[in-house]
Amino acid sequence: MDTSIFKELEIWFVTGSQHLYGEETLKQVAENSQTIVNGLNSAQKLPVKLVYKPTVKTPDEIYNICLEANTSKNCIGLITWMHTFSPAKMWISGLSVLNKPFLHLHTQFNRDIPWNDIDMDFMNLNQSAHGDREFGFICTRLRLNRKVVVGHWKEEGVQSKIAQWMRVAAGLNESKNLKICRFGDNMRDVAVTEGDKVEAQKVLGWRINGHGVGDLVASMDTVTDAEVDALYQEYKKNYNIIGNDVANIKYQAKIEIGMKKFLDQYGYKAFTTNFEDLYGLEQLPGLASQRLMEQGYGFGAEGDWKQSGLVRIMKVMSAGMKGGCSFMEDYTYHLDPKQPSVLSAHMLEICPSIAADKPNIEVHPLGIGGKDAPARFVFNVPLGRGVNASLIDMGGRMRMIVNPVEVVKPEDLPKLPVARALWIPEPNLEIGAAAWILAGGAHHTSFSMALDVEYLEDFTEMLGIEFVLIDKDTSIREFKKELRFNDVYFNLKI
Ligand code: MN
Repeated sequence: MDTSIFKELEIWFVTGSQHLYGEETLKQVAENSQTIVNGLNSAQKLPVKLVYKPTVKTPDEIYNICLEANTSKNCIGLITWMHTFSPAKMWISGLSVLNKPFLHLHTQFNRDIPWNDIDMDFMNLNQSAHGDREFGFICTRLRLNRKVVVGHWKEEGVQSKIAQWMRVAAGLNESKNLKICRFGDNMRDVAVTEGDKVEAQKVLGWRINGHGVGDLVASMDTVTDAEVDALYQEYKKNYNIIGNDVANIKYQAKIEIGMKKFLDQYGYKAFTTNFEDLYGLEQLPGLASQRLMEQGYGFGAEGDWKQSGLVRIMKVMSAGMKGGCSFMEDYTYHLDPKQPSVLSAHMLEICPSIAADKPNIEVHPLGIGGKDAPARFVFNVPLGRGVNASLIDMGGRMRMIVNPVEVVKPEDLPKLPVARALWIPEPNLEIGAAAWILAGGAHHTSFSMALDVEYLEDFTEMLGIEFVLIDKDTSIREFKKELRFNDVYFNLKI
């Protein structure tokens, strides 16, 4: 997925001050802010355009810029900075209505203290060390979630923190506009793939609608042989086709085209399928779902709309980055005490954006679902660090469970024709899996080697949903306490 999705988006840069300083200083404040915005934009590190806004000096100006941000379609968040002191009671009305995320950039125009020249004029202009603390107090007093980034604005580390947060803000924007198509319902009797779709729309913004599989079949009926042949040529060009089951592969091409037409017609950016609900289809959508994920659509198997939405959002956050993102499932364990690890895969539907090499297209019987042998991609995942995330419905709130993992080299798997990854969860399988299970984490996840924990943590803070991390510092005793404390905290918030 490329970065064109960020093209129209904007982050507004808002500098706070007050009239006490006089025209001369305020002019300097405005000039410095513009220099910072221009400098950050021209550094080419930020995925989203930063837009300079005039300094806000009164409660009305603050309120108005917040209202304007709320109603602007392209504005996906604010960066705030108090170059001088901005008495923060002025911010209460504006921040109370602001419905876009914000990053508090705690920076300073100059990097160094000019030891020999510093005088009181300099001190009266460069006041973020105390102005930003006043602003921080009111944000905390109002219980507002926000990101705080500290450091000089020219530093690479600061710029990459801003860039990372911008990608999360773009993910939030995607979330608030996301439509998810469910082809059929979820797998019968399965609990974790269920959830409150009204609550999900209220909190996450997702519009989740069901369509009969017949609607998909009808869309596939409009696909011509010429369209299928052209797509098959594309497959031949981009992947290694193994074997001679051309008809089975072409059937997946037909599903892909019919499904894409249907999704695009209704503006769906994510979808689910269910192998128990394939009436009128000859194969479970395998290669078709994998190809659509590669093009940026979110996907969840067995009706799992929560993971489908999360895959889509993580794809948006990681647009243009190396490492990809896929629907995933913890499948089978390797419990050898030398290296306890998880073999993660799915029946078919893993996205080739996480493939180490050019994927194979293979056709094999599924052994479940009673349909024709479906074509699917088969590949391994590169070695290295990744992050696994699961979204569950706790009843009254959403919880996201996040666990970094280390992808390691599997033995050869000559008889396993699916895309797969072998990994060790942090801190190890024993604690990692126990904590995951205690937190209620699903067997389905969204997995990425492009993103890290911070993206997902920031995303949950923007949404105000629960975030639990399992990592190298996790101890089961403390983790159980955290889950209990969170129950109290979120119940207080309701
Ligand atoms: Mn599954």
